[in-house]
Parts: sequence; structure tokens; C-alpha cells
Amino acid sequence: MERFTVGLTGGIGSGKSLVAKMFAERGASIVDTDQIARALTAPHGAAMPAVLAEFGADFEDRDGALDRAKMRALVFSDPGAKRRLEAILHPMIREAVFAEAQLATGPYVIFDIPLLVESGSWKSRVHRVLVVDCPETLQLQRVMARNGLSEEQVRAIMSAQASRQARLAAADDIVDNSGEIAALLPQIDRLHHFYLAFSGGRQTIDKQRL
Ligand code: ADP
Repeated sequence: MERFTVGLTGGIGSGKSLVAKMFAERGASIVDTDQIARALTAPHGAAMPAVLAEFGADFEDRDGALDRAKMRALVFSDPGAKRRLEAILHPMIREAVFAEAQLATGPYVIFDIPLLVESGSWKSRVHRVLVVDCPETLQLQRVMARNGLSEEQVRAIMSAQASRQARLAAADDIVDNSGEIAALLPQIDRLHHFYLAFSGGRQTIDKQRL
């Protein structure tokens, strides 16, 4: 049976990891797409042969992993290279994510996808898009505190991500994380029950906000 899938996203510092953990505590299966993406280009990762065939053997580091600094420099200066890299990685990431979802034991599966809005086709591949939202000033404060970064550094990361408005526009469901952590609990409980109700075999769901 096809699994009921939720794409969870949010800007850096929105509280996405915290929210994913709360769903996991309630029994949802979580698939970490960043981890899957990293594994593909880790030492002897499944994407390495294709990446090296496309970009050349000198993009492999001493351990057999992708030379990330070198690739970052290339895609920064060459948007075409970025597209070629994504053309290799994105289908492999999707395949691995759905393979992991098939093996999941929870009643439904949450895909943790930081760049869901930015990377296009995810929205049409999950049953619900769940956005963790908070004001940008809170994102700034939380990331500065968590990572010890300056305001400028956090702003630079945020400006490379989708805007708050664009993320909200892509949302089917929203978790408001502009308050205390305790204020998340009733929201997560409500969504968990909603997702449970739709994971019992129903394949369609009204594209309507709760
Ligand atoms: P993301 O995964 O979206 O980058 P995290 O879940 O790691 O964000 O949250 C960012 C930081 O802010 C973490 O240190 C987290 O503990 C903290 N945080 C998240 N939500 C709240 C909140 N409502 N109140 C206070 N701190 C929070």
C-alpha cells in the first residue's frame, strides 16, 4: 500500500528539527532527506560514479567522497553545473527517500525536507506539505544562539532560502512556532491525529487547511 506521506519544511531556525522529534515521539516515521543526500556523496556513495563521470575524477577527495569545497566553488560560479549536479542527485535522493518510506514501520511517514519549497517537485510527491513557521526575527535569534553565528551570517543563509511568504503559500498545514515550546504540543497532537486518520488506507485528502 502506498504510504501516507507528509513533507515537513521550514526556514533555518524555525524549529523544524524540534517538530520532527515531536512527531517521532508520537510514532511517526521520519525520513531525513539531508542525511540521505549526504550519504549519496559520502565515501563511495551511490551517486559518486555518476558525479565523477559528469564532472571528472578530480572531484573525488582522498576518501572517495565528493570534494564538497571544490563542487561548491564550481556551482557557485556556474549555474549550469548546479543544474547538472541536481539532475544526478535529485532523482537518486527521491528514490532513496521513497525506498526508506516503504520500509518505515510508523503509521505514516514524515519527510524532513529543509529545501522542499526551493527544490520544486516535492510538493506534488507528498500528500501534505507541513510548514513550521515563525517570524524572521525569531529565526535569527534562534540560529545565532544555536550555532554561535553573527546576524550577518544567519541573514546570508536566510536570503538563500525561500521567503517566509513563499513557504506559507506552499503549505497545506502550518505549525506556528512563534511562541513557547509548550505551545507546539497541542498543534502537533492535532496534526498527528489528522494524519493518523488519513493513513488508514485513504489515498486522497481534501487539499484544505485544518
Ligand atoms: P531548524 O531545524 O528549523 O533549524 P531547530 O528545531 O533546530 O530549527 O530550532 C532552532 C533552535 O531554536 C534550537 O536550538 C531549538 O531548541 C530552539 N527553539 C525552537 N523552537 C523554539 C521555541 N518555540 N522557543 C525557544 N526555542 C526554540
